[in-house]
Amino acid sequence: MEPHVTENSPTLSDSQRAAVTETLQRYWGYDELRPLQSEAIAATLASRDSLVVLPTGGGKSLCYQIPPAILGRTDVVVSPLISLMKDQVDSLLACGYPAAAIHSGMTPQERRVAESGIAAGEYRLIFVAPERLVHRGFLTLLQGQSVCSFAIDEAHCISHWGHNFRPEYRQLTVLRKRFPDASVHAYTATATERVRHDIIEQLGLREPAVLVGCFDRPNLTYRLVPRNRIRHDVVEVLERHRGEAAIIYCISRADTDRLSTYLQSEGYRAESYHAGMEGSERRRVQEAFSDETIDIVVATVAFGMGIDRSDVRCVIHAAMPKSIEHYQQETGRAGRDGLEAECALFFSPADTLRWQKLLERSAAESVNGLVAEESLAASVGLLDHMRKFCAPGVCRHQTLSEYFGQSYENEDCGACDVCLGECDALEDGTVNAQKILSCVYRLKREFGVSHVVDVLHGAENERVAQLDHDRLSTYGLMKDLTKKSIRNMVYQLVDQRLVGRTNDTYPTLHLNERSAEILRGERQVWFVPQRTKTSVSRSKQDGDLWEGVDVDLFERLRALRLRLARERGVPSFVIFGDGSLRDMARRRPRTAEELLDVHGVGEKKLADFGEIFLAEIAGERVEAGEP
Ligand code: ADP
Ligand code: ZN
Repeated sequence: MEPHVTENSPTLSDSQRAAVTETLQRYWGYDELRPLQSEAIAATLASRDSLVVLPTGGGKSLCYQIPPAILGRTDVVVSPLISLMKDQVDSLLACGYPAAAIHSGMTPQERRVAESGIAAGEYRLIFVAPERLVHRGFLTLLQGQSVCSFAIDEAHCISHWGHNFRPEYRQLTVLRKRFPDASVHAYTATATERVRHDIIEQLGLREPAVLVGCFDRPNLTYRLVPRNRIRHDVVEVLERHRGEAAIIYCISRADTDRLSTYLQSEGYRAESYHAGMEGSERRRVQEAFSDETIDIVVATVAFGMGIDRSDVRCVIHAAMPKSIEHYQQETGRAGRDGLEAECALFFSPADTLRWQKLLERSAAESVNGLVAEESLAASVGLLDHMRKFCAPGVCRHQTLSEYFGQSYENEDCGACDVCLGECDALEDGTVNAQKILSCVYRLKREFGVSHVVDVLHGAENERVAQLDHDRLSTYGLMKDLTKKSIRNMVYQLVDQRLVGRTNDTYPTLHLNERSAEILRGERQVWFVPQRTKTSVSRSKQDGDLWEGVDVDLFERLRALRLRLARERGVPSFVIFGDGSLRDMARRRPRTAEELLDVHGVGEKKLADFGEIFLAEIAGERVEAGEP
């Protein structure tokens, strides 16, 4: 589990360390650096190129935010999305840190203000999209500021071996030519060896310090469960997270609409989000999620980067994602504040086929046949890893760590379905499914579930005898099981569409394409055990992270935070993260000094929000900003 660093990895001198600590306290109210942050900062301070690979929530941003603040210079950050830039700038400004973004969504007036600020050297960081960096006018502006350090955020976008290739990132190859003396620092959360090499090569990094953090996210609990009835499955998870933020991922747009409509009818504050929606509609949903008007977004992969809630307590996959990289990235949106969160994935063997078809279709539609073929092969490989990951077996934390090239030494992570013993009951049902299907085959499309069950169980009734079905080779083939459990399996096959069933008054069973695959041994079947209520309940009353926290006070502080965020038109986490609120609700500070000891309270935030939060903690109602 040790993070991995290059040899001669850069270290901070004593005076640098003191400056970093002071800056960290002043702007962010944090006490210490997280793993690899100090090496990453040291590399930037020493103008040595670097590739920093930290999982989502690992704290990449601080690595490029701190150096220019210490040195009083202006650095540039390349970021793929306007929403990402805006959130970062908002958060920085809320901490009193001077930063600006230049992007296509600005009015000419806003643009002029930002540009004159840059010319005056007012900002420590400037955020831009990759395509903007290569504009002549912009380059001149930067050269005027003698910019000497570039941070490339989401650097995997430069590689088509990553899961989010963006052609515009390829333009960054010119950076080296235009700014030969500047250092370049790449940041990503995706770390397969191949992507790593691609980033170094494409950006032309020179003897970079390669800093790869620990990929494990111990605060996330992973569960991968065969899909039973998706609506019930989803609701069962959501019930553990009432009123908390959740994201649900589906494969298709239609799936998201259906599920969100259902959840709304069940009283959840949910909306769907996908690439087929109008831009304005998508923005509305994204904003509703950030300003906490809704709790749940049901989305396709289109909902991703730029989600600015760090308090997402639950990510559900209603179907299998198409790669482990996607899974890691999407589950990575849970618990960004470092507090516990749950990630549940409901899969069915049908998901693999569905993806395969989608991938083939998009390859066929592609204009460049050769490239399409190459990336189809890559995608199918990634899909296969994901499929294997779903089967129960090895600790999920361990599997994920190892997939990203790291060893994992924990015997029992205590935070996955395997280690929690939840999938003990789950069995590979392939053999039983084959028995059932052979029986269905022999009954020639003429019989329904109960007769199939009777024959398999070896029933000695009149009907079976009359029809001579006691002479079938499948008669009594499953007699060691109870009738009830055989029936349950047959229904699961029907539900998973692994056997066909007519729609008549007396429905009969027949084999379909998938049944044939099972019989040929090309498809595995998982049966969900009759669900006993699992022991999973991570409620606010248990868990170390809630130790000593006054839950009522926490909820009041949360409401206060929401009100302040709405008044200011910023996301809540810009005010305070959940970790800070819990810490306040635990320590109940009474003075400004005590408040400054709370995790995540820096000088600017103390000045801006200290009084009102202290009042709330003391139990006095203050109507913020109201006349
Ligand atoms: P990433 O970009 O790697 O996904 P962020 O930079 O957004 O992660 O950091 C995730 C959260 O962790 C942010 O709320 C950030 O302020 C917080 N954070 C980062 N570094 C530290 C630290 N040293 N101590 C406490 N919190 C930190
Ligand atoms: Zn585990």
